[in-house]
Amino acid sequence: MGSGPEDEEKAMNCMLCGGNLEKSAASYTVDQKGYHLFIEKIPAYVCARCGEKAFDEKEVIAIQNMLKTFEDKLEQVQMAA
Ligand SMILES: [Zn+2]
Repeated sequence: MGSGPEDEEKAMNCMLCGGNLEKSAASYTVDQKGYHLFIEKIPAYVCARCGEKAFDEKEVIAIQNMLKTFEDKLEQVQMAA
């Protein structure tokens, strides 16, 4: 059967316009109750055509883990206050 290598090069395309996504960095903003967080220079893919940002899944998970730690700390501070 002809099952050749399919994922040796994964070209990423924009979900909105289908343009090429270029490896870049983008800022990530978190809007939550009680705090507002702005993280700069997260590795991301940016569409060369429309500018849409796409974050790598592992980066998003890393941010979410970071936020969880942050929220736990925030809770402790609020309880102490
Ligand atoms: Zn695009």
